[in-house]
Amino acid sequence: MQSALNWLRKQPIATKLKMLHLATSGTVIVLASLMLLLTQFYFFNRGLLESTNSHAAMISENVSAAMMFDDKKAAQEILASLRASPDIEMAALYDRQGNLFVNYYQNIKDKEEYALPPRTPPPGYTFTLQHLTLSQPVALQNNRLGSIYIQADLYAVYSQMARYLAAIIAIMGISLLLANAFLRRMQREITDPIHSLVRASETISEHGDYTVRVDGGTPDEIGLLGRSFNHMLERIQRRDSDLEDEITQRKHIQTRLDKLAHYDNVTNLPNRHYFNEHLSHVVRRALKFDIKVVVMFIDLDNFKLVNDTLGHHAGDTLLRIVAERLSESLRFGDTISRVGGDEFAVILENVEHASQAAMVAEKCLANLGEAVQIDGNELYVGASIGISVCPEDASDMHELLKHADTAMYFAKSRGKNNYQIFLPEMNQQAQKRLILDTSLRHALELQEFALYYQPQVDLATRRIIGVEALIRWVRPELGIVNPVEFIPAAEENGLIVPIGEWVMKTACQQLKVWHDLGLTHLSMSVNLSGRQFKEETLLERIAEIVRETEIDPSTLHLELTESMLMDAGTTTIKKLEQIRALGILLSIDDFGTGYSSMSYLKRFPINTLKIDKSFVQDLPQDSEDSAITKAIIAMAHSLKMSVMAEGVETEEQAEFLLANGCLNSQGYLFSKPVPAEQIALFFELENA
Ligand code: C2E
Ligand code: MG
Ligand code: MG
Repeated sequence: MQSALNWLRKQPIATKLKMLHLATSGTVIVLASLMLLLTQFYFFNRGLLESTNSHAAMISENVSAAMMFDDKKAAQEILASLRASPDIEMAALYDRQGNLFVNYYQNIKDKEEYALPPRTPPPGYTFTLQHLTLSQPVALQNNRLGSIYIQADLYAVYSQMARYLAAIIAIMGISLLLANAFLRRMQREITDPIHSLVRASETISEHGDYTVRVDGGTPDEIGLLGRSFNHMLERIQRRDSDLEDEITQRKHIQTRLDKLAHYDNVTNLPNRHYFNEHLSHVVRRALKFDIKVVVMFIDLDNFKLVNDTLGHHAGDTLLRIVAERLSESLRFGDTISRVGGDEFAVILENVEHASQAAMVAEKCLANLGEAVQIDGNELYVGASIGISVCPEDASDMHELLKHADTAMYFAKSRGKNNYQIFLPEMNQQAQKRLILDTSLRHALELQEFALYYQPQVDLATRRIIGVEALIRWVRPELGIVNPVEFIPAAEENGLIVPIGEWVMKTACQQLKVWHDLGLTHLSMSVNLSGRQFKEETLLERIAEIVRETEIDPSTLHLELTESMLMDAGTTTIKKLEQIRALGILLSIDDFGTGYSSMSYLKRFPINTLKIDKSFVQDLPQDSEDSAITKAIIAMAHSLKMSVMAEGVETEEQAEFLLANGCLNSQGYLFSKPVPAEQIALFFELENA
């Protein structure tokens, strides 16, 4: 039973339904047939009893006379009339005393088996499995004459029952077959939608395809299930597509965030973040495969100036142009990033030798060197490039970056627009520079600065017309340090501003002393640094010093460099005019080393051009220098400026200059820069 149930459990619904139907309809049919059979059996028996009863009554009536007169023969004949009833097997008549009177047997061979009761059986009837026995009194007008006994065979009943059973079985079989066929049809109504659900679920679970739908046509529970299933699929599909939309949107945002996090939106180049990530990756690979990687730090020269004077828009345009030019200078596979305001960094992979990096750097500088047109302005951008190589210089990414930065710093200190490959000494120099910076900071308060003065002479008369104040740093243990060794550092760290102020004040005080001594024709030249010139309070400070020291402002000459003017916009011209308005005179120092053109110079209120000593030193032999010197003198005259030659060391130079119209000069031929006391000696000599 249990195993049958287990088997049934594993069957598909169709089989289960069929089995259920067969079990219920079979049970109903079998029970109904059984009831019918039993009823029929009862009625057959009842019929037999009634016919046997009526035979007994008929015999009783007919035999009463014969029994009354004890006529056995007549009684025998009457009893034999039962032959017409094949069911009756035997019959007997008993007399009043209960003794057997006559008997009758029908077709009975073995009479032993069918023994008659020896005496009158009690009245009534009895059914056994095979027979019906019946006993009745025989009477005439209430006179009891004896009894009749009949035994009937149930064979006819059974054969009738057998036929009946056969008919029932046939009907049962046919109705089961019909019911089965009908059920099969009905069953498909139920199982087909279920199969469709199953197939849909399988498709979904196998292919994840939520577009399938089941037929939800029938209005019953299965139809409802199908419709709910479809509805559920629709919702899943909608949620799926919503989810997909959201994922796409998120991916989009992620890509944008990635781009924002990794790219610079001005130049579209990767940013510092990306650069660092990529470099660490590249360095790891280089160490693993024993290949070289080069890091180049590129810092634009004078970018801040463009930004300040032409505005941020022009600054951004310049950065984009620079990014383009740098990218064009690289090979495929090299990486360029913008790592700061005007700082770019390059990674060169698979480099054989550091000289390759030098070539790339040269190409970058050459490309950057070409003029840039922005908003009608022609600009020149230079850059300082620092190079470090992995693994030679460092195998640690941060160390490598630091070295490239140090090298770049060196390039800057070497006059910009050049590249430097990192050298271990640079670190020592950087350290020296650090010490220099710290000492410089204390030099002013420790009064370690001194001014030397170099005479400027009238070439025709050889008389001193003025002096140039040149700073010296007298370091306790190191002796006298020349300005070229500390002025650039002071420019960079800003100390040049208080130092420059000290120079101007000291020089003016000295000039006042000399003027008070009667040397009123004497002028004083003071060098002004770019950084100092940019100070907003410059004008006030100059005016204050002139006032405090009570000098004649027209005896003060401020020396500017060409580069200071070249960086200039209208504010510079205004500033120069304001200085001139104080009565102070202006000179351009080291003239000829910059790029000033005549039309450019015309805009500035300049009084004197100082021809740089590099043109003077090879005069008069060098024809090119001679030509340049003559041109400068001619230009100064046409601009109504005076000319002063620097670095005059020989008589020939002095003669050449004078012959070509340069009236004033300064140089070792007359005197090196000397302390103030020695200048006084010159005058004593002059006057002697
Ligand atoms: P500079 O203003 O062009 O000064 C002239 C330089 O040429 C001085 O060098 C001077 O000693 C040198 N010199 C003069 N005659 C001759 C000569 O015949 N032959 C040679 N070979 N050299 C000669 P110094 O004093 O070393 O100054 C160098 C530079 O340092 C100056 O160039 C100037 O640009 C700067 N400097 C000096 N003092 C100051 C200062 O107080 N403030 C600022 N901002 N810069 C200063
Ligand atoms: Mg000078
Ligand atoms: Mg000079």
